[in-house]
Amino acid sequence: MTHRETGARPGAGLKTSALYVVATPLGNLGDIGARALDVLRGVDAIACEDTRHTRKLLDHFGIRCETFSLHEHNEAASAEKLIRLLREGRALALVSDAGTPAVSDPGARAVAAVRTAGFTVIPVPGPNAAIAALSAAGLADPHFLFYGFLPSKTAARRKALDELKPFPCALVFYEAPHRIEETVADLAAALEPNRTLVIARELTKLFESIVSLPLAAAPDWLAADADRRRGEFVLAVSAPPPAASSVPLEAARALDALLAELPLKQAVRLAAEISGATRNALYALALEKKRGSQPV
Ligand code: SAM
Repeated sequence: MTHRETGARPGAGLKTSALYVVATPLGNLGDIGARALDVLRGVDAIACEDTRHTRKLLDHFGIRCETFSLHEHNEAASAEKLIRLLREGRALALVSDAGTPAVSDPGARAVAAVRTAGFTVIPVPGPNAAIAALSAAGLADPHFLFYGFLPSKTAARRKALDELKPFPCALVFYEAPHRIEETVADLAAALEPNRTLVIARELTKLFESIVSLPLAAAPDWLAADADRRRGEFVLAVSAPPPAASSVPLEAARALDALLAELPLKQAVRLAAEISGATRNALYALALEKKRGSQPV
């Protein structure tokens, strides 16, 4: 029975005429958030990527709520339905099969339509495979680029990787088991061999595994055991190695000694005077050293 049938208003604390975008577990149902449960219990209806899939989650938590489908092939029509229900004052939720809606999942177009129609969209954050993988990857790069799925066609995938290669940040991809070997082979061929690849598989599930290895070694490692190619994958690649410095070794040594005693700007100015190296190059090197990424 829905809230409407019982005459109840949306659950306590929920806004009427609002769409809640709710993240759901990647595998381990214990990862559902307390707020996500309150929202799913309180809304009038839930738009689901796959109603049968979400029904299992709702049943597990004893939640009885009307559901309807919103997937990539009916997103426009379902967005109209969302807007019609919001005009009636309903509180609604949007979920995908796993993780955060609209992240490599349907939802973004519906959310845009709802906001354009003037209604409030409220995120209820929670599980996300890319962030879960990064949290356990141990990559120290300060920046990352989330790419999601690479193109499925080989030529387009290789072109994308050539374009991504120089980005000065870690790269994060999603991949399915039937393409994991090709994608890892292309990563190894396109990117610097000494970059670290973290393969995060089946996160939060029974056969969860997270391994780090040099990119060059990854194709053989995957080929060695069929179990390593099963399940769902996040691939995280460390940032490219810093380009060889244009600063001569003696100047870099002088900079090192000065940096130990002086503030950065003063050390750079003096190192430039002593060595004749350019201030810009020394400044860039000093910044890299400060970040701890460039030993002399
Ligand atoms: N919206 C989801 C999120 O927030 O992460 C992603 C949905 S996307 C359709 C599915 C892809 O996410 C999978 O092919 C895989 O690359 C990644 N993924 C989802 N669950 C995962 C898990 N438990 N372990 C590793 N990767 C996972």
